[in-house]
Parts: sequence; structure tokens; C-alpha cells
Amino acid sequence: MDSASNSPSPRLRQKLLIAAATALVLLGALFLSRLQERTASEMQARKNATAQVFERAPEQWLAHPREASEFERSVRAGEVAAVGVSGPVVLYTDRAGHQLSTRLIDCGFNCKNELGSHLGELSLAQGFALTDIDVDPRTAGQRLIQSLDHAMGVMAPLLAFVGVAGLLIWFQMRGTLGARTRLAEKPRTRFDDVIGADEAKKALRRVAAFMKDPRQYVAVGARAPRGVLLDGPPGTGKTLLTKALAGECGASFISVDGSHFSSMFYGAGINKVRELFKKAREAAPCIIFIDEIDGIGRRSSGKEAPGGGEQEQNRIINRLLVEMDGFSSLDNVVVIGATNHVDNVDEAMRRPGRFDLVVRTSLPTAPEREQLFGLYLGQVKATEGMDLPSIARTAVGMSPADIANCVNRAAAYAAEAGETRVSQERVYQSLETHQLGGEVSNTKSVITPETLRRIAFHESGHALVAHVLDAGSVERVSIEPRGPALGVTYVTRPNEEPLYGERELRSRLAMMLAGREAELIAFGNASSGAADDLKRASELATNMIGSLGFGKTFGLLSMAGVPRELIGPDVQKSLLDESRQLLEAAQAECRRVLEDKRERLEALAELLLGQETVSGAPLKDVLSGEALATA
Ligand code: ADP
Repeated sequence: MDSASNSPSPRLRQKLLIAAATALVLLGALFLSRLQERTASEMQARKNATAQVFERAPEQWLAHPREASEFERSVRAGEVAAVGVSGPVVLYTDRAGHQLSTRLIDCGFNCKNELGSHLGELSLAQGFALTDIDVDPRTAGQRLIQSLDHAMGVMAPLLAFVGVAGLLIWFQMRGTLGARTRLAEKPRTRFDDVIGADEAKKALRRVAAFMKDPRQYVAVGARAPRGVLLDGPPGTGKTLLTKALAGECGASFISVDGSHFSSMFYGAGINKVRELFKKAREAAPCIIFIDEIDGIGRRSSGKEAPGGGEQEQNRIINRLLVEMDGFSSLDNVVVIGATNHVDNVDEAMRRPGRFDLVVRTSLPTAPEREQLFGLYLGQVKATEGMDLPSIARTAVGMSPADIANCVNRAAAYAAEAGETRVSQERVYQSLETHQLGGEVSNTKSVITPETLRRIAFHESGHALVAHVLDAGSVERVSIEPRGPALGVTYVTRPNEEPLYGERELRSRLAMMLAGREAELIAFGNASSGAADDLKRASELATNMIGSLGFGKTFGLLSMAGVPRELIGPDVQKSLLDESRQLLEAAQAECRRVLEDKRERLEALAELLLGQETVSGAPLKDVLSGEALATA
């Protein structure tokens, strides 16, 4: 049973919250004033009886001021019975019992008044009591002002405490009410605005049909969809698809984040859930979109965390499920939860009648990327006739959101350069920034002409071998340093086949080694610039021999399936030996290509040294040797 259904009403909970905060403030005040009283009484108890007499009612002495000279005369004449000194203020009682006071002249810092410095000796000589006292010589009005001042001093931390507590409560109330005031929008987005995502659209179209005419489905006994989980990498259109779903069936759209429900205050989270569903029912037909639902969708194992955080989390999930279970088929509210990790969503949430439909979104394919570039370049002023297929191939692994950002950044580059249109060059520049993790780095300023030449040959080597051995389509070569890379060669596969053939893998190995080989050919020695290439080539080679069945020693044995204890030093040595042979064969192949086509290698390196970046037709021409033929 749901524990949340027995909980007090939201209003009562808020009142309890305020009462608890007020009680806390009062307790704090009480504690501080007790502490003060105690300190004062302890200090008082340590004083001698004469001092206590003076301090009990100093105004009786202060009311009868005398000149300092008169006090001195009385002292020297032996007429004084007791003296209390509080800084320059002196209270004294003469032997006749008169209570008098005087003020010794303050002669400045570190200077003791003549009489004041001899009071000790005089007290012994004349036999009067002398004591230090602590009195306030000011008038009642002055004292009142000081008390207020003092009170403020004591109260300041309290006021701050009250203020902070008040603010917290206010924010919490605002947060709770925030859900109430959050407006449901009516999106105009349609499924046609979402590029690709065909499977997701198909599943959501069914939900849309139900929402458009729930009666028709209910009449034949169909159960209304209540919850859908959209699972996919960030930026793949989960929000956009949900908006399109709302747009298609004319439904309202309310969007919240999973973290929206978390709260410092016990019970506030479930209030937010309640408010949200109330609002959705009022706005029906309505789609509630909960982004990053795994933020709330993970129930605790039952172990209570200190502070009750997990229990609160469970209560939020329970409340959400109670709300969803309480939907009638005609309520026409559907909850869409988005997540990047569907496995993190609580099992209970995925049961029938809850989030029982999982729809996946994925990264776009090359044709979809082409459409996305077309769409977003259509929204900025772009030059005509861009090579969209090539751009899309280069943008492998990018989400629609990345593509939208990439076009936007390209437009910013164009604007910064004072251009009126976004050119293909700017799009590539932006793609490089995205894929290599940054703008052109400062390293550029410290690269010597010799090193630049080496980088140009290195990249030309990669490009030429990739082209000749057909490791992929060479899209672009650049010798501008970005992030950790000193140069870059973009080689894309013509399609996104999930399988790699042995020939393709061998060509890729050769392509990876080609940078270093080109350096050897051009300069007679290699540099550290090939470290990453060698690492990746070694990974691929050991994989090919150890796991993919392309080696002779292991045949069809995959090291991934052999128990670790059976992989002894002999096996490891054989694996490494054969991987090394594979690398050496690839090296020989790439050397043959580079030596054979040395003119093209040099032509490309020179082109790069002149232009820094080469792509499109000029690149194709030099790689295919046409540029040399026509020269
Ligand atoms: P998610 O919710 O999966 O993180 P979004 O829906 O918020 O992704 O997508 C972010 C942006 O990316 C959208 O506003 C839209 O501009 C763009 N976008 C995402 N997917 C697509 C798509 N399939 N078609 C067109 N644009 C898309």
C-alpha cells in the first residue's frame, strides 16, 4: 500500500513546517539569553563585597558628583571609607556615609593620573577599602540607547537565523506553488518537424491516436496509455518528440525536470507531484514531460539514509505511481519520462499501466544528419551548393542538438569574420571545434616551420594511404592544432555499415601507421607525434588477432571468451608476436603506397603548408593524382 496516501494534507504540512521553524528560532533565543545570564552571574559571584555594593546601585553615587580636587582632599584627610574605581570614574563613600562620585582627569594613553596611581598606597595609609568596579557612568537615556545597541548585538545572529529560516520556507513554498503556476503550453510542433526517429514516431503516433479520441478506444475496451519512457542519448529529440506528440493531438504540454521534485523539506516533493497532476488534469488533454526521470525514478534498497532522503525519494515515486494508477481512461493525461539510462528507472515504475512503453531514440544516420544540416543551415544565411553529404559524413556521432549547435557556431564564426553568409568552410571549422574538443590552440604560435612541415607530411601520409587503400573517404586534412591534436585527417566511411571486413581493417591499420611512415620517408626519422596512432593501431591489431579471428596462432579462439587463468605468458607472447607481425605487414603496405605515390604525398604536404586546411575538390584532385597530371 502507498504510505503517501496516509500523509497529512499539504496545508497542514506547511503549517507544521512553519511551527517547527518558529520553535527552532525561539529555542535559539532562549539558549542565548540563558548563556548570557549565566556568564554575568558567574562574574558577579567572583567579585568582593565592596565592589558588589558599588555595582548594585551606582546611580546613588553618580547622582552626587564632586570635583576631583575635593575627592583628593577627602582622601588625604582620611575622610574616605571605601573607593571603587571604574576607569576614570570613581565612586566613594565617606566615613559619614555620604555616597559621592568623581571623575579623575584622563591624562592620555599609558599615563596614569597622579592621584589614581597613588590610590593603592593611600588606601593602605589611610585605611579605606579600594576596589575595581564595573559601572556605567552614563545617564539613564544614554544607557537605554546602549541597551538597545546591546540587544541588537545579541539579536543580530538571531535575526539572521530567523531571516534565513524565513527565506528557506519562502523558497520552499514558492517551489511548491511553482508547479501550480507553471503554465501548460500548447506546442505547434509536429512529427514532421522531427527528422528521423521513425520508430519513436511510430510508437508515439499510436499514443496520439488514443489521445485524440479516447472514447473510441475505451468503447472497445482498450486500456489508455499512461506512461511512456523515452530512452536515448542527450540531444536526440526526446523533448522535441514529446512536444510533437502534444502538437499532433492538440494537447497541453507541461515540462518538469526529475530534480524538480527533490526538496530539502520533508513532504514538499510529493506536494509538487500532486500539484503537477492536478494542473495536468485541469489542462487535459495534457502531456506531462518529466526530463531525466531517473533523477526520481530510482527507489532505495530499503536502507534508510541519514536524514531520511531516500525515504522521501520513495514517497515521491509512490505518489507519482498513485497519481498514474488513479488516471481513468478518459482523464486523457499521459506522462512521458525521458532518460539516458532506462535501466536506472525503478522496476515498479515500468509495470503495466505505468511507464510500460519504452521508446528509443538514437543518434542520426548519415542521411538523417544530411537532412538535419539542411534544416539548420536553412535557418541561417548560408551559401548555396554546400556539399551536405560530405558534411554529414564528417559529422559522424553527432546528435541533432550537436548539429544545431554546430550550425549556430558556424554562423557566429562567419559574423566574427565580417562575412554575410555561412560558408561550407565555416561549417567545417565549427565541426572541427566540436570533434577535436576546442578552437585552434595557442600551440600554433610555438610551432616552428620545421615542425609544421613534419605535421604536413604526417597528415598527408594518413590521407594518401586512406585514399589509395580505400580505408574510407578522405574529407578534409588540416595542420591547425586543436586540443591535443597537432593536425587532423578526416576519413569517413561511405556508409555506416555495422560490420568491418578484414580488408577494411587492414587498410585502417595501414592508414594509422602512415603518418609516421611519411615522416620517415620525408625526414629519415620519426617523431613523438605518432604516439596516439601507434596506440590505436596496437589496440586494433591485438583485437584482430585475439578476438576477431584474423590470426593464425589462435584461429577461431577469442581471448575474450577464454578464462583468464588459461591465458598464461606463452599465450600473451604469441598474441603480441602475431599482432606485431600484423602491424609490420600494414607498415610495409603503407610504405609501398607512400613510396609509389611520393609525388602526391609531397604535393599535398605543400598544399597544406600553403593553406593549412584542404578539403573538397582540391583534396580529391591531389589525392587521385589529377592535380599533378594537369600541372
Ligand atoms: P533531448 O530531449 O533528447 O535531450 P531535445 O529534444 O531537447 O533532446 O533536442 C535538443 C534540440 O536538438 C532540439 O531543440 C532541436 O533543435 C534539436 N533536435 C533534436 N532532435 C531533433 C530531430 N530529430 N530533428 C530536428 N531537430 C532535432
